[in-house]
Amino acid sequence: MLKIDQDLCIGCGICADQCPFAAIKIVDGCAVVGDACTLCGACVESCDVGALSLEGTEKAVKVDLDEWSGVWVFCEYRLGCLAPVSLELLGAGRRLADLRGVKLSAVLFGHDTGDTATTLIAHGADIVYRVDHEQLAVYSEDTYAAVLTSLVREHRPEIVLAGATAIGRSFVPGVATSLDAGLTADCTALDIREEDGALMQTRPAFGGNIMATIVCLSSRPQMATVRPKVMRALDCDPARTGDIVDIAPPPGQLRSRVQVLESVAAHGAKVNIQEADILISGGRGLDTPKGFELLQQLADVLGAKVSASRAAVDAGWIPYPHQVGQTGKTVAPKLYIACGISGAVQHVAGMQSSETIVAINRDPHASIFDVADFGIVGDLYEIVPKLIKRIEEYRRG
Ligand SMILES: Cc1cc2nc3c(=O)[nH]c(=O)nc-3n(C[C@H](O)[C@H](O)[C@H](O)COP(=O)(O)OP(=O)(O)OC[C@H]3O[C@@H](n4cnc5c(N)ncnc54)[C@H](O)[C@@H]3O)c2cc1C
Repeated sequence: MLKIDQDLCIGCGICADQCPFAAIKIVDGCAVVGDACTLCGACVESCDVGALSLEGTEKAVKVDLDEWSGVWVFCEYRLGCLAPVSLELLGAGRRLADLRGVKLSAVLFGHDTGDTATTLIAHGADIVYRVDHEQLAVYSEDTYAAVLTSLVREHRPEIVLAGATAIGRSFVPGVATSLDAGLTADCTALDIREEDGALMQTRPAFGGNIMATIVCLSSRPQMATVRPKVMRALDCDPARTGDIVDIAPPPGQLRSRVQVLESVAAHGAKVNIQEADILISGGRGLDTPKGFELLQQLADVLGAKVSASRAAVDAGWIPYPHQVGQTGKTVAPKLYIACGISGAVQHVAGMQSSETIVAINRDPHASIFDVADFGIVGDLYEIVPKLIKRIEEYRRG
């Protein structure tokens, strides 16, 4: 609760100016807090006379941070396959573990996981905690949460990372709640703060208009989810060695309240723009859904897939699975050609890791050119047909 000491408050209004949620007003020369207050504490720090304080938000039990050590990556294994984000997170986790001088562990749940644990070691893990059990063959939120919570309680890793996938997003917040830990969802960057070794978790905030870096000072573990295609996997090194620790959870942890009757692949699941090497992306600048037919022609000659900005998806020109960006998919193809896309921060958040970015836009000041390696200023309806023609000529030799 935010408390305002009326005797100390001088009604200067600095706290009201500092409040990101416009939750403070000055009434009759004194600050008054409203329902929009999120207890973020920005006002407390800004008050020169010490009239503001947060009460009841401190944890009663302080955690001994030294008891927590190591970096853990939850490696998602579903339908007999390792989710690619698991290897990407091992790449990121390796760097964090090296900076902290601790071990990197992978946590693998599933059934008949074969030599997946060895693959995880080859991609950077020092230890693999493997829970291979028929009860974990099909994903179930309560069993996954119970087993991971129990493992974290026992081994006390300082950092726990998981993919911001449908599975990671559904059960990892429950684990964080059970552990009384925070969780930063959908991180786009992770680093270690030099002075105290805290995990710096960066993610878009306020609708993607700012990047917020979050640190967890007084509780452990520090937990974060990261979207697929944001981090880079390490090359496979079959010579790497590590320990595989098989875990047999007690039956109570494996008992689920959920019975999975059938798994059905989602309609449209075949559209996987995240796996394409080349993406031809269209935006509102196409002006009509027919524009995507032209982009498909360019995609066909390049062996590419077609993606889109949210404006094009919202207009109903192309279905949602094609959307790139903060509320769409994060992609990192070898080549990303943005046609008639302005380069809004929410779009760029989903494609900036592409190896080479080409932008076609008739506005020379469009922000997409700030992230593009090659920019073509002009009308896409003139440029794209020329590109197709040149590529076809080149192919014919
Ligand atoms: C919370 C939130 C989440 C969001 N998530 C996403 C997201 O995931 N993905 C996303 O893309 N957006 C997202 N947005 C929307 C984003 O802010 C932009 O509105 C959107 O990206 C704009 O799409 P656009 O670039 O296609 O359209 P516009 O911004 O309208 O740009 C169209 C561009 O086309 C150019 N153009 C027009 N005609 C031609 C032509 N003939 N030839 C060449 N160039 C031409 C124009 O110069 C212009 O630069 C989100 C917004 C919010 C608030």
